[in-house]
Amino acid sequence: MRSRGLSKSKVMAGVQCQKRLYLEVNHPELAEVSRSTQMRFDHGKRLGEVARRLYGSGVLIGHDDDLARAAAESKALLDQSPADAFFEATFSHGGVLVRADVLQRGEPGLRLVEVKSSTKVKPQHLQDCAIQSWVIEGAGYPLERIELAYVDTSFVYQGDGNYAGILRHNDLTGEVRPLMQAVPDWVDQCQQALAGALPNIAMGEHCRFPHNCPFIGHCSPPQPEYPITMLHHGGKIVQELIAEGINDVRAIPEGRLKKQVHRRIRRVTLSGRYELDDLAGEMLSRLPYPRYYLDFETVQFVVPEWAGTRPYNQLPFQWSCHVEEEGGNLRHVDFLDTSGEPPMRRFAVSLVDALGDDGPILVYNMSFEKGRVHELAGTFPDLARRLHAIAGRMVDLLPIAQEHYYHPAMKGSWSIKAVLPTIAPELNYQGLAEVQDGTMAQSAYLEAIASNTDPGRRDKLTLALKEYCKLDTLAMVKIAHFFEGKAP
Ligand code: SF4
Repeated sequence: MRSRGLSKSKVMAGVQCQKRLYLEVNHPELAEVSRSTQMRFDHGKRLGEVARRLYGSGVLIGHDDDLARAAAESKALLDQSPADAFFEATFSHGGVLVRADVLQRGEPGLRLVEVKSSTKVKPQHLQDCAIQSWVIEGAGYPLERIELAYVDTSFVYQGDGNYAGILRHNDLTGEVRPLMQAVPDWVDQCQQALAGALPNIAMGEHCRFPHNCPFIGHCSPPQPEYPITMLHHGGKIVQELIAEGINDVRAIPEGRLKKQVHRRIRRVTLSGRYELDDLAGEMLSRLPYPRYYLDFETVQFVVPEWAGTRPYNQLPFQWSCHVEEEGGNLRHVDFLDTSGEPPMRRFAVSLVDALGDDGPILVYNMSFEKGRVHELAGTFPDLARRLHAIAGRMVDLLPIAQEHYYHPAMKGSWSIKAVLPTIAPELNYQGLAEVQDGTMAQSAYLEAIASNTDPGRRDKLTLALKEYCKLDTLAMVKIAHFFEGKAP
């Protein structure tokens, strides 16, 4: 058997699923990397850069495109350099090549620190550290301590470039050492998987743990038009039906489903006609005017960029609001700050000004908007009374839709993007330029505020963000009108 060079991530992929490893090596073009996964990678990269500054004046081993050279240089530096710390030191052993985030010299020996953008230690981190440590020790560098550094979400950035305290350290030496004994078997299994034909492995829970496999789309069998997985929070009943060979909602026997929502999904799917309860319109018709239809966009940083913020805070940078007067007059107001300065204060001030003191504020999935408003109230005490009042005026359209409306084209989803085309097909998110969902909005915002983005591009992104958020609130207007029996 000819052995293949493996990286740590390849061994991790093989531990998750040998078919995944095979596909990663032989058919990487079949992988689908989601925007949120890409964003997680970007977060990790940024954290790695900041982490290096926290471990003193270490030596960064480069040569990212020539890892054999990186390994040779790592050996030379570790054997001869008086430096205290090494970043991205590269080692090879047993056919596996790894790069260590941080390797520190100390008394009495070497300390390995793996840096993760996670907010806690997870089982896969132990595997990760075990592979790293097995290779490093096999290459001739015994480790005294094996640690995981992860993000401390209680860290508050002061805006001074000092990130001391953003990482928590957990000594995993005692847990990792026993696991290292399994690494040679993992490597053997990986080598065998790569030496043969495509492994025949059925899909299962391993496809989503510890990470969503990028080959789920490739491995999934063709789905019927109405797969039973669209049963909302289906859980046990979905598993039972699959075990019985029932894959299509239309094939579920009558009386088999207990939950009202599941029964409605089956009934509507079979009839092809939507259902709307009168109660939805009655609930909405009780709301006075003016009515405000509101939506927020937020951004998260693993490494906080703005003073007073913490890792992974949801920081609002944009809002859109359609204001409806009695009689149907509709106007649009919005806020978006792409200056790169912290937008939260201006966001909050403009919001309390725009929303006035009374009138219901309709949102879609209230916990999100309410949560952000309460956070802003905590940050800006002078606005707290008005912000809390705004939270108190919120009315959630989502549960009204979930309990009282279903259309066969929604296919088990009440997201605004699933509901809107069933009510106002002339409005659609696919027609928008660059921003069609929340993750794209975050990416567009980050690009817009980057110092190297030219003004023309920033203007284009600003427009795309405004169009996207405006459509979200217009969609709410259309949904509310439809429920009330008004022309959508
Ligand atoms: S989708 Fe599942 S079965 Fe297919 S390669 Fe990935 S983990 Fe393996």
